[in-house]
Amino acid sequence: MKHILGGRYELIEKIGGGGMAVVYKAKCRLLNRFVAVKILRPEFNNDEEFINRFRIEAQAAASLSHPNIVSIYDVGEEEGIHYIVMEYIDGITLKEYIKKKGRISWREATNIAIQICSAIEQAHRNHIVHRDIKPHNIILTADGIAKVTDFGIAKAVTSSTITMVGSTIGSVHYFSPEQARGGFVDEKSDLYSLGIVLYEMVTGSTPFDGETPVAIALKHIQSVPIEPSTIDPNIPRSVNDIIMKAMKKEQSSRYQTATEMLADLHRVFKEPDGDFVVFSNDDNSPTVRIRDIGNRNIVPKEEESEIKNKTNKSRKRNDNLTTWLAVATSVIIILIFVYIGYRIIMPLIFPPPTENFTIENYVGRNIDEVRELLEKHNITVEEKPVFSETKEKGTIISQSVAPGKEFKPGAANVIEFEVSAGPHMIKIPDLGKKEYRTAETDLKNLGLETEVVEENSDTIPTGHVIRTEPGADEEVEPGTLVKIFKSIGPKLEQVEVPNLIGKTFSEVQQLLDSAKLKIGKIEPENVSSPVAKVIEQYPSPKITVEEGTAVDIVFGEETTQEEETGEDENQDEPGNNNDNTGEVTLKRKTVISSPIPLLYPEQYGDEIKVYALATLSDNNEKRVVFHRTVKKSEFPLRLTIPVPEGGKTEVYMELDGEFYTKFFVE
Ligand code: ATP
Ligand code: MG
Repeated sequence: MKHILGGRYELIEKIGGGGMAVVYKAKCRLLNRFVAVKILRPEFNNDEEFINRFRIEAQAAASLSHPNIVSIYDVGEEEGIHYIVMEYIDGITLKEYIKKKGRISWREATNIAIQICSAIEQAHRNHIVHRDIKPHNIILTADGIAKVTDFGIAKAVTSSTITMVGSTIGSVHYFSPEQARGGFVDEKSDLYSLGIVLYEMVTGSTPFDGETPVAIALKHIQSVPIEPSTIDPNIPRSVNDIIMKAMKKEQSSRYQTATEMLADLHRVFKEPDGDFVVFSNDDNSPTVRIRDIGNRNIVPKEEESEIKNKTNKSRKRNDNLTTWLAVATSVIIILIFVYIGYRIIMPLIFPPPTENFTIENYVGRNIDEVRELLEKHNITVEEKPVFSETKEKGTIISQSVAPGKEFKPGAANVIEFEVSAGPHMIKIPDLGKKEYRTAETDLKNLGLETEVVEENSDTIPTGHVIRTEPGADEEVEPGTLVKIFKSIGPKLEQVEVPNLIGKTFSEVQQLLDSAKLKIGKIEPENVSSPVAKVIEQYPSPKITVEEGTAVDIVFGEETTQEEETGEDENQDEPGNNNDNTGEVTLKRKTVISSPIPLLYPEQYGDEIKVYALATLSDNNEKRVVFHRTVKKSEFPLRLTIPVPEGGKTEVYMELDGEFYTKFFVE
């Protein structure tokens, strides 16, 4: 093996290998940086069609640029060695991380899923479907940032390579039913796989497992997974529901876009136990066409027998059913004979009484008692239940034959009773617009059970009843569960936070106004200069929030924070006032960092003091880029970081006064 590829990539060490390639850490001599070089395994070298597809896909993926996507720098070939040069990520794969931790807390898992989902969202916008989302293709950096690799590359892999190459078997655990079937793969397939990845993060194992790839593929197609919250009751409802929706067998029942799934994932932190995941109605259980699978390449011939076995089993089940029916019919016939024998033969052996029977007043007595008595005298008793507030259930209220009447033996004697069925059904009152707690007490006082369900409403004020289920005037039995739909106010639109960096105060006002957002905290408080520009904002641009959310902003004029940086000697005025004076020619751009997650949320209180210090590579200038107490829910945080053009900035970050992470931005 040659050690320098393309005249510039010096291979340093092997870092891993998968089904179709081996990955090396390498150094790019031209740009003097580490890169990862993925070299296609030699067995593919003769497959021209495969190589072409591989190149095309890699080139397409190279156009993607996103903090959670591993960038592709170059695609090349040299003396039959086909390779891709990628951003080198110092970290471990999500697979290794899951193995190490067993289960990942739902908060951290959601955080990671958000990052993966936004990577997928970006790719889908560019019409690139990943097709092989799995924890091996997600690398976590020491800062807890998730990077998705191998975008689109799986497209080059045909079903034949899937069964051929041993280690790709790992992918089958994450395949969507349509992939397992060899059907039409689209964006929704990635979301299914993400559902499986999230399932594995929170439960510690994949939902479907089996002895062979085919067995696993079949489970994707036909088995219902055990719900995550059944495995671990600590998993909140919203996370459970997101997973179950993403994993629907029918493409049309899943999330239709990554954006939709992302919105639900973001909502998890706000309402972990919320019932906001919407499941579609047309969610019939999937029609399983087993023979279809047998014809696909993915199922090798010898495995077809496994499927045939299944068909045989169902035939056997049919045979069993026939036998069972035959037995049941015989039993019924025997019972009919016994009955006839009882009614016809018994009276011959024990002749009925010959005396007349006098009907008494049975009102007020218990029906069972009276029935027993009358039936002894061959009188047919008929019962008509009526509700009664006063008479105990089973009490006779009236009788069809007057007391004193004589019944002759042998005649077809019938008597009908009205029998109390207990208290009358409860009529549900109209609780519309009442405060929900009053409604709850009203219903409880009527002897009903209640459950409060939250729902958006544009017209009913928050906390008041929109409707009940069953609705007003319906009659129900005592103890029936009545759902009270409580208004939580109008549904707020989800809006995207605009980019305010570099804007003046009046521009900020306009932008936030038209985005239906509010100005939040302003720092420094007394900013008055009309030319002061925003250097930091929270939430960051592009994040989706509810309308009316306050956006905190920091203006850049007074960023000198000598007291806070401590050991900071070379802080000087001109350095900070570049933009205004134009005297110093150091060029800076503003970069928004990748989202920085909170790795061990349980170690922090609700409010966390965040401090971040940036050191710029061109003049070693230090700037405090973040110094604020934030709510835990504001994580993952994005920082706004000044970066020298052509250089880089080191960011040192503390949480609650303790070192948290250090990273570079370029
Ligand atoms: P598959 O062939 O199905 O994709 P895989 O994902 O396990 O299987 P590779 O994509 O070849 O295999 O990656 C092998 C290993 O190399 C990964 O598990 C990861 O540890 C490492 N790796 C891949 N890309 C990078 C990268 N850009 N930076 C650092 N390490 C990487
Ligand atoms: Mg991979």
